[in-house]
Amino acid sequence: MYHNSDPEQLYEPSTGPSGLEEADHRLLMRLIFVCTGVTLGVFCILQSLAGNYWLAIAEAAACGLLLWASHRLKRVRHLVPWIFAYLIPTFCFILYIIVMPKASASAFVWVYLMPVMAYLLLGQWRGFLLSVPFMLLATLMYLYMNHLRLDAPGLIDIGNGIFCGVLVLAFMHLYEGRRADAYKQLRRLALTDTLTGVASRESFQRALQRCIQESARYDTRLVLVVLDVDHFKLINDQWGHEAGDKALQHLCKCLRHRLRATDLIGRLGGEEFGILLPFTDRFDAQPLVEALCQEVARRPLEYGGQHIPLSATFGLAEWPTDGLDADELYRCTDRRLYRGKAEGRNRLVHSDPA
Ligand code: GH3
Ligand code: MG
Ligand code: MG
Repeated sequence: MYHNSDPEQLYEPSTGPSGLEEADHRLLMRLIFVCTGVTLGVFCILQSLAGNYWLAIAEAAACGLLLWASHRLKRVRHLVPWIFAYLIPTFCFILYIIVMPKASASAFVWVYLMPVMAYLLLGQWRGFLLSVPFMLLATLMYLYMNHLRLDAPGLIDIGNGIFCGVLVLAFMHLYEGRRADAYKQLRRLALTDTLTGVASRESFQRALQRCIQESARYDTRLVLVVLDVDHFKLINDQWGHEAGDKALQHLCKCLRHRLRATDLIGRLGGEEFGILLPFTDRFDAQPLVEALCQEVARRPLEYGGQHIPLSATFGLAEWPTDGLDADELYRCTDRRLYRGKAEGRNRLVHSDPA
């Protein structure tokens, strides 16, 4: 659900575990599953040519499982369990190639991939919690398998391995934290109108589309209201542009104050705003919007010790009675809004003349 004072909580596509938009995250996961599956498929052929039939069978099974999972990932609701189901066996496999008989000492380099994959797929804290225990375990296993030597060359070897791992972990942790913050900030900027703090035009349009789909699914109604500040040019001309900006902020504050948490306000452009009232019909919306109209007119803007009177004209349309899609609803609200302007402004028009 969304909240009129926080466009971040709106009817927006949710973000994935690493903060990426869920669709991007799903695509990334599917790509990783397919790449790993294909790699295992190639190794399955090589192992069977080398006569390692059991290993070839295991790799063929893992390849099939990954390709099936990449297909399933298109639709699954929760991605996180799938990511864990991929990362934990992968990390266990890395532990195995460190301790398996005749293991190569260089197999340890795969451990550096653990924080990269975990942070990329799970975000900062889940990535940390998954990669650190596995990295510690891998280090202990490596030291056990390669017999710890306490002379200078032995300590340099261990130091190289451990410090490189710690640095990769630290860089990933810092990088992922900053990337996620920057993503959040960009997302907020895209969703919000910077002057007034209400939803941007784009996020309001998307919310309206989604709300129409939801209303159709649950067989409910919704109301779209469009309002335009009256004689706003005069406010700018008479009091200056800064007063005009303050008037827009003041208006949004009045609207937010009156609306429910589930209603949404968006700035459609200039001094024109949209209000989305989900799960509401025109009979319930009408007194609410009339009260909003009176509230705006009753609360002048205080600017430089003066009171600047404000008013707005409202046009209201109900889905599906007045239009079956967003365009039809906008056309209806615009028609009513401009009739309201023609009839003297500072009013709500909720129906067309008979
Ligand atoms: P009406 O009652 O018919 O709507 O008259 P109006 O003066 O409000 O309508 P008009 O469309 O002529 O004027 C809108 C004005 O809004 C013109 C534009 O300069 C001003 N405006 C648009 N965006 C902003 C903004 O972000 N800040 C300020 N201060 N003014 C803005
Ligand atoms: Mg206008
Ligand atoms: Mg206007």
